[in-house]
Amino acid sequence: MGAARLTIDLDSIAANWERLAERSAGAAGVTIKADAYGLGAAPVARRLARSGARQFFVALAEEGAAIRQAVGASAEIFIYSGHMEGDAQTIRNLGLIPLVNSAEQLARHLEALPGLPFGIQLDSGMNRLGMEPAEWAAVRDLALRAQPRLLLSHLACSDEPDHPMNAAQLRSFTQMTEGCDVPRSLSATGGILLGPDYHFDLTRPGIGVYGGAPFSEAYPVVTLDLPVIQVRDLAAGEPVGYGCTWTASAPTRVATLGAGYADGILRYLSNRATLWAGSVPCPLVGRVSMDLVTVDVTHLADIPDSMELLGAHQGIDDLADAAGTIGYEILSALGARYRRRYLGQRP
Ligand SMILES: *Cc1c(COP(=O)(O)O)cnc(C)c1O
Repeated sequence: MGAARLTIDLDSIAANWERLAERSAGAAGVTIKADAYGLGAAPVARRLARSGARQFFVALAEEGAAIRQAVGASAEIFIYSGHMEGDAQTIRNLGLIPLVNSAEQLARHLEALPGLPFGIQLDSGMNRLGMEPAEWAAVRDLALRAQPRLLLSHLACSDEPDHPMNAAQLRSFTQMTEGCDVPRSLSATGGILLGPDYHFDLTRPGIGVYGGAPFSEAYPVVTLDLPVIQVRDLAAGEPVGYGCTWTASAPTRVATLGAGYADGILRYLSNRATLWAGSVPCPLVGRVSMDLVTVDVTHLADIPDSMELLGAHQGIDDLADAAGTIGYEILSALGARYRRRYLGQRP
């Protein structure tokens, strides 16, 4: 079989969520946007529902369909992008809860779906989504009369515990929501680790559940094995791959493996990443191409059937460091072409 194999451990995902939920002062939901950070929204949602998750957060209304089908009618599904033009039918049919971001979205929701649930997203300083204090003050009475389910804001620097932005956003969110008598949510993974002052009624971790920083105690979740398609011996002076960016300086054995940038192996990793043959590291040489990578295996006594890019020897944050990015991007870039195997799945 030519396709690389992506193994996703649902029991580790569940264990990570359970530990973040235990640390949360109130309840814990889960952020499951972007197909559960690339890992598969339906199997992940089903597994976490079994562990007791009841609040699911997605980015877009369209993402609600797979989650609703996986978790049944009683779970709450919140939408970070709020109530966008054209979303009303999806929101109603799937029973979603838009987190309205502006006075305009609030008016749209109250007009299109009066009496149906919604929440409100407030901007406590990140300047990305949500109502700023002045806008909120102007619509607050109207909004509260319509009985929102949740008041939410998002921290910009929660992965840096000493950053002054954390306390500033906490103050701003507290001021904006004082006396509202509506459940509140401020923290994702990083905010949970900042401590209970940041937790309010509901947390909504994502990356920590999927095994990434800043949740340093997370169990790893993914293993990625690339099949060896071909092996060749090069003489000194022979180049490898597009652009001939790597040239053998001595006789070299090179293996060609079946996955590339179309599968989320970022092209920036050309001549930078390491793959593992069991416990032996092997450098990626030459450019990452769309479907293939090439690896120096000169020092191996036996060529394995496959080599590991993600797993026990190299986690998502290690690979992210090599690529100059973050674990979130490594995970969410994983392509649709892998043979996916889920561990811990039940019928
Ligand atoms: C993505 C996102 C989260 C989850 O954040 P993690 O850092 O992955 O835990 C929570 N809230 C909002 C608004 C988000 O966009």
